[in-house]
Amino acid sequence: MQDILNTITTEIYRQDDWGQVAQYIPELTSVDPRQFAISVCLADGQTFSAGAADKPFSIQSVSKVFTLVATLGRVGDQLWSRVGREPSGTSFDSVILLEREQGRPRNPFVNAGAIVTTDALLSGRVPKLALAEVLGLIRQMASSDEIYINDAVAASEQATGSRNAAIAHYLKSHGNLQNAPDLTLGTYFHQCAIEMTTTQLAMAGRSLAGLKHAPRVISQQHARRVNALMMTCGHYDGSGDFAFQVGLPGKSGVGGGILIIAPNVASIGIWSPGLNGYGNSHAGTRAASMLTKAVNWSVF
Ligand code: GLN
Repeated sequence: MQDILNTITTEIYRQDDWGQVAQYIPELTSVDPRQFAISVCLADGQTFSAGAADKPFSIQSVSKVFTLVATLGRVGDQLWSRVGREPSGTSFDSVILLEREQGRPRNPFVNAGAIVTTDALLSGRVPKLALAEVLGLIRQMASSDEIYINDAVAASEQATGSRNAAIAHYLKSHGNLQNAPDLTLGTYFHQCAIEMTTTQLAMAGRSLAGLKHAPRVISQQHARRVNALMMTCGHYDGSGDFAFQVGLPGKSGVGGGILIIAPNVASIGIWSPGLNGYGNSHAGTRAASMLTKAVNWSVF
């Protein structure tokens, strides 16, 4: 495995096109796109890494997976009365389907669906408590206490987050937001500003992959469902292409991170901050496809 990851890393560093870092969160615009890391946890408990695997990055929408795990644990199937389970075919921050579907977002991984999921987790508590729950869950899943929220990134997104604010208010107008929009949004921006390394991310995916030594934080039934949503919705309007190229459930974030689950086989964390046109990591997607080809892990 180490040889495979080294070869992928060498190949990635040879490329000229790294994509562009996210431009709409000021704090993320200064990140150098020419960075790469990959980590893989195997079923036997071994972890392999190559590249900058110890460098923390902003997990952004990858956090939606962990919030979903926490919320399913808290409210169970009731969540589905407020959020759908269908791919959207739209960008992560799209508002277009919300009006047609009367304020019920298509899935928990587009921003609108994640804001509703965070709202369900918050359920009348102060944001600090909900954030402590998500952070505590991630630390437990990753078996690492060295995972923190970057307050500067959260503040930076809060200052420029008019589109997410519009989404939250629109959800509220349809009765699909229980808390004050500012409270839910503040919680959401802070959850997106969590920083992790690829090693920690791969470790955190072990429970979803159902690996033997993983912390038991999620039922098998819920893990299957989260994985199904990652496969069909985890890359927004690029989800079909990710399934085509990689063949595994994956969740991306605009910080350039990708969490990939090979059920019963492995959990993979990848990071490269330059994005493609869908807002998913450009080099990260390439590396994921090289890896699944090399080890034959596609579920298809
Ligand atoms: N915090 C980002 C936003 O809400 C997350 C988006 C993403 O990573 N795709 O816009």
